[in-house]
Amino acid sequence: MTQPKPTKNRISKKAASFTESVIREMTREAMKYGAVNLGQGFPDFAAPEDIKQAATEAIAADRNQYAITWGTKDFRDAIVKKTKWFLDLDVDAETEITVTCGSTEGMIAGMLATVDAGEEVVVFEPFYENYAPDAILSDAVPRHVLLRQTSDGWNFEPDELRAAFNERTKAIIICNPNNPTGKVFTRVEMEFIADLCKEFDALCFTDEIYEHIIYKDELQDGENPKSKIQNPKLIEHISMAQIDGMRERTVIVNSLSKTYSVTGWRVGYCIAPPDITNAIRKVHDFLTVGAAHPLQAAGAYALSLPESYYVELQKEYQRKRDFIVPILQNAGFKCDFPNGAYYVMCDISNFGFDDDVEFTKYLIREIGVAVVPGSSFYYDASLGAQQVRFCFCKKDETLDAAAERLAKLKTR
Ligand code: GLN
Repeated sequence: MTQPKPTKNRISKKAASFTESVIREMTREAMKYGAVNLGQGFPDFAAPEDIKQAATEAIAADRNQYAITWGTKDFRDAIVKKTKWFLDLDVDAETEITVTCGSTEGMIAGMLATVDAGEEVVVFEPFYENYAPDAILSDAVPRHVLLRQTSDGWNFEPDELRAAFNERTKAIIICNPNNPTGKVFTRVEMEFIADLCKEFDALCFTDEIYEHIIYKDELQDGENPKSKIQNPKLIEHISMAQIDGMRERTVIVNSLSKTYSVTGWRVGYCIAPPDITNAIRKVHDFLTVGAAHPLQAAGAYALSLPESYYVELQKEYQRKRDFIVPILQNAGFKCDFPNGAYYVMCDISNFGFDDDVEFTKYLIREIGVAVVPGSSFYYDASLGAQQVRFCFCKKDETLDAAAERLAKLKTR
């Protein structure tokens, strides 16, 4: 029988308008070519034993059915305690928290819950690649504001940010500490952004999954002088919700993934004022019903770990950062020591490649190291055409293997 001629597009305009995740594609490429994977940001070392133990105990104790859709009571109570301790913010477990399947779901649920078609969302560029499809899926119109690499880190022009706000602006998305640049927004910058949000009655979505990964230690004798942060006292994690007048217009998006090295658990959460939380909970319920129940129980345990856990985490990542950045610089990449998160965004113009995708292919196939092409962090791909992103949340052996392979790279 002959098939009738198709009269409809089988794929929605929304789904057709974005590509697969480039970050995750690079992981598949790394596996295919046996490259050391410094692309996708996930630890290749084991998650802490006691956190794994808490998860297996929760399964054995039969916490295996749906949890309350917005999160188990013990996990929400732990989020309240931890947020009070770390950010000195009072949060109501009953009305202000939604536990989600990772911060990825938290961000899209937050946007679907608040943004109407045609409303604008301001996004700093380069941005974590999910924010672009998030805008499309929620019918938001993205307005991009460039972070430029300067001798003083990655910075935005205040006038450009101001010009991106108008009466249609619904929200701004900030990832702080920032993926992919490693920028940690200063108090002055946060206050400038906050003033714009208040002036234009805009919300702020703040992705704070790297809140514990910031580098503020002063140099010890004998350490690499280049790792010295110009003014370590300025490097502190500030949540937008801590800034005067912002608590009621901020959606904090956070997760267990990076802080506790469990990216595969997919457990995150949103903290937002009650009216917004109410809307996020509805969206979340019909998107996913809920996050994995036993892993929320383990999350309650993880969030009550003592301060020493976070101090150790920071130290470890600072050590890895101080190892990899000089290797990248010596190999010919132009980059600085990031102030936060576990990525290094590098300029590749010394290598003489037409663009980042060509260079990434070469690096994976010929040199044996996978990275993420810079263009995947930009709306305008040409802006990232001479950049790639490395991540360093990897075992020392992995970083050693990458260093050995990168030594084969030649500049032109
Ligand atoms: N946040 C990580 C990155 O930027 C992982 C992204 C993902 O694959 N969800 O690499």
